[in-house]
Amino acid sequence: MRGNDVSDVPQLESRYHMQMFRRMPVTLVRGEGTRVWDDAGKEYLDFVAGIAVDTLGHAHPGLADVIAKQARTLIHVSNIFYSEPQVELAKLLVEHSVLDQAFFVNSGAEANEGAIKLARKWGIANRDGAYEIIATNNGFHGRTLATVAATGTPRYREPFGPQLPGFTFVDYGDLEALKAATSARTCAVLIEPVQGEGGVNVPPEGYLKGVRQWCDEQGILLILDEVQTGCGRTGTLWAYEQAGIEPDIMTLAKGLGGGVPVGAVLAKAHAAVFEPGDHGSTFGGNPLATAAALYVMQQVIEGGVTKNSQERGEQLARHFASFEDRFEAVAGHRGRGLLRALVFHEDIAGEIVGKALQAGLILNAVRPNAVRFMPPLTVTEEEIDRAARILEAVIEDVTR
Ligand SMILES: *Cc1c(COP(=O)(O)O)cnc(C)c1O
Repeated sequence: MRGNDVSDVPQLESRYHMQMFRRMPVTLVRGEGTRVWDDAGKEYLDFVAGIAVDTLGHAHPGLADVIAKQARTLIHVSNIFYSEPQVELAKLLVEHSVLDQAFFVNSGAEANEGAIKLARKWGIANRDGAYEIIATNNGFHGRTLATVAATGTPRYREPFGPQLPGFTFVDYGDLEALKAATSARTCAVLIEPVQGEGGVNVPPEGYLKGVRQWCDEQGILLILDEVQTGCGRTGTLWAYEQAGIEPDIMTLAKGLGGGVPVGAVLAKAHAAVFEPGDHGSTFGGNPLATAAALYVMQQVIEGGVTKNSQERGEQLARHFASFEDRFEAVAGHRGRGLLRALVFHEDIAGEIVGKALQAGLILNAVRPNAVRFMPPLTVTEEEIDRAARILEAVIEDVTR
């Protein structure tokens, strides 16, 4: 905004940016760890973290150094050349997961696009032309044409004309419905281990194991969309670990680059069927993005970040349990690690989030009756307690 009065930002936005976001009435200009500041100098605790993206918090000095050093060395080269950070990141992700090979993209939607193409190619070649993918109601896989076709929220795809065929939907958590929806045309199941955008919905105990078993029996692929749940967010490196299952394909993005746009598709050897010419991306896996993700994932894997996610998540859940005891308006809470939701009996999530913002705590109304919490995985014990104190006063205020 150089040369402009920064108070003009919302006005300039409404004039020059397409009106496609319902934005919070705040212009954020700076951050440090879990804290951010707006253009008036007001400080907030950021429990949205770019929608589960800012894994190491804001302005992490180690990450900033890696990005600066890579920018001075080599920002981008085409995928027609080998690149060191790209292959190092692939090696790290493969060695710390049950998958065998990776490729890189720039977002969650693109990761799922890649996974959908991979599964279709696999099905057409190995399952007699099968190309259909079963996804879940209230699931979320992105905003491109293929990924909205895979997203179980009809209003995200209805304005855009004929949709890509080959997707069917079943209720999340309903194994019998999934079985009934499976046919000779089915090549894969695409599912989130915990539905993020759908409301932080944790599936019933044993559901994901049942899905895995069914895929094995039917000889179809299981694609886990870990775009939101992966990279330490749910208290283990990957959410599939907690379900005791292994995916055939896994997609990542959000937290992978700690704020630098990067996504990944990982697959077991039998599902890694792309050959030269099948798929590609100009920016996908470029040296800058993969050097940043390599650093972030080293911290998540070896730097105690995942353990902190689990412990701080449990601390947050204890606060929620006490709110549930003390406030009639609180219906319950759900989630894993540092992906949590506090659920109310009435549709007051928007009001809670608005008042919390005024009080210096950034939250997200993921459903009309549910508030989502997804702070940086480096959030401190003191910051969790501070956020809980702010939230407590806000709930008191809103439900009085
Ligand atoms: C956010 C999200 C996506 C889409 O990611 P983009 O980077 O916005 O394209 C896909 N799947 C899940 C589970 C997500 O949470």
